[in-house]
Amino acid sequence: MKNNMILRTWATKLHKHLHKALGLIFTMLALTTTGSIHATTLDLKKSININNLVILQYHHVSTETPKSTSVSPKVFSEHMAFLAANYHIIDLADAITKLQNNQSLPNKSVAITFDDGYINILENAHPILKKHNFPYTVFINPAIINESRSQLTWQQIKQMQPLATFANHTLDHVHLLTNTANENNKQWLTRVMNNINQAEQIIAEKVGYSKKWLAFPYGEYNTALKQQLLSEGYIGFGQQSGAVGAFSDFGALPRYPAAGVYANLDSLKTKLDSLAMPVNDLIPVDTQYSPTQSLSELTFSVVDKDVRLTALACYFKGQKLEFKKVKNAITVSVNHQLTPGRERINCTAPSNGFPSRYYWFSYPMFTATSKGEYLD
Ligand SMILES: [Zn+2]
Repeated sequence: MKNNMILRTWATKLHKHLHKALGLIFTMLALTTTGSIHATTLDLKKSININNLVILQYHHVSTETPKSTSVSPKVFSEHMAFLAANYHIIDLADAITKLQNNQSLPNKSVAITFDDGYINILENAHPILKKHNFPYTVFINPAIINESRSQLTWQQIKQMQPLATFANHTLDHVHLLTNTANENNKQWLTRVMNNINQAEQIIAEKVGYSKKWLAFPYGEYNTALKQQLLSEGYIGFGQQSGAVGAFSDFGALPRYPAAGVYANLDSLKTKLDSLAMPVNDLIPVDTQYSPTQSLSELTFSVVDKDVRLTALACYFKGQKLEFKKVKNAITVSVNHQLTPGRERINCTAPSNGFPSRYYWFSYPMFTATSKGEYLD
């Protein structure tokens, strides 16, 4: 009898506790939902870590080409062995389809790309990639293919398939943002889109498919070009750092250069492990500047609670930048007079769930000379 009483008292207590706990859970859920509606226009479900891709960018694999855009065959071989041991190499088409359909990618997915269509990709990189059975993508300039000894021929391009996929790097490697004399913005956009579409058509004729992937020469793009590309069904690839998520801007996906000073495996490892930072409400929106302009601040909000914003760090030219944080809204003080060339602000913050992995976001700036030209 006494035992029954005790049991009943415990049952009542347990019931009360459960009720409290459930109430708390519902309140938390309600808060989370309300918070996400106000915080962002991004789909939070898309910002989970499994939908994450890192794209590497190479140019030359050779000891005889410019150091800043080259890795030696030995270093390339070391990179590939490291990738084979620690990462999942994914075909770029497969990765893009999965990201756009919000399907999971294997953890630590990495895609390999080359710009410029150099013959040393076939001579020095292809055998190593073939050994590992790693698919890869080469962005080529169809007007230059066959035309110089350093470039692949269409015959060789055929031989490299299906391991290699070929895509667009413009017809002739122009600086896309340059306006020719007396050209208005509409004429400029028509001209550069003609160049891109012509290149795409030649690739379709010569290799038999048209991916509609464009790697911007020198990584240079602006908002107008990006939007036009998206409206014509293209995906753009830049050279700003960062990983790719389902929520990323497919008009200018980030890639990590892996040659020259970036070839060191210790620093490359942090990038290979990086996560796409879910950034929203970025201001300024555009990336094109004239040398008379200055940038006072960069603002954005970060919309995933896994990003440990208390440990956010932003860098510009090796210097740490000051920033203000109000909830998830960040204002970075830049105060910089723009100079001709390519510059970028990088921000990183650790993941709460994967403390050794960093969210990464990069804002590039492309500035013309006073004559309106862009530097190589
Ligand atoms: Zn290039």
